[in-house]
Amino acid sequence: MNESKSLREDAIPILENEIQKRNLDKNLLNWIKLERNFFKGAELQNLKILIRNSECSECGKKFNNIQGFNIHYISILDTSFDSNVIVCDSCGRKLRKKSYLKSATLGFISLYGILRVPFYFIGELIASFSRKKTSEKIIEEFIFQNTGLIREYGNDRIQDLIGQHNIQQAEQNE
Ligand SMILES: [Zn+2]
Repeated sequence: MNESKSLREDAIPILENEIQKRNLDKNLLNWIKLERNFFKGAELQNLKILIRNSECSECGKKFNNIQGFNIHYISILDTSFDSNVIVCDSCGRKLRKKSYLKSATLGFISLYGILRVPFYFIGELIASFSRKKTSEKIIEEFIFQNTGLIREYGNDRIQDLIGQHNIQQAEQNE
């Protein structure tokens, strides 16, 4: 069901045929239509504005410039935390500060950290030059991944979908 988005246009009639032939659930056909009704042009721009002004899933504030943030930090084991969250400007900055602190602390408490932390901060510095672009990318990817759900639930539920997206992003690091 989720893979239908990435299929080529000419593969869709074949897939639809197959669903009909095998007498599979008609809802599946509808879902594929929703999933592939991609947001483009003015509709995409409007959706982005709606997202920017929607309620933040962290602090509940509205109209506080919702953006996509890549939150990344290194931790004591050989793991790093990496997630693309969609939150308001102030929450994103807070999360970023926290990840700097966590990474810097690692540098104080382990030899391993001393070696890795400078590279982490150089990486963050380089990333800081393209924050706007990163935000655009994260939001566009979110819209693409949720095409069917946004179509199905309508724009009013967009903040619920963002909330869910943020939870999934945090969980994938556990
Ligand atoms: Zn917030």
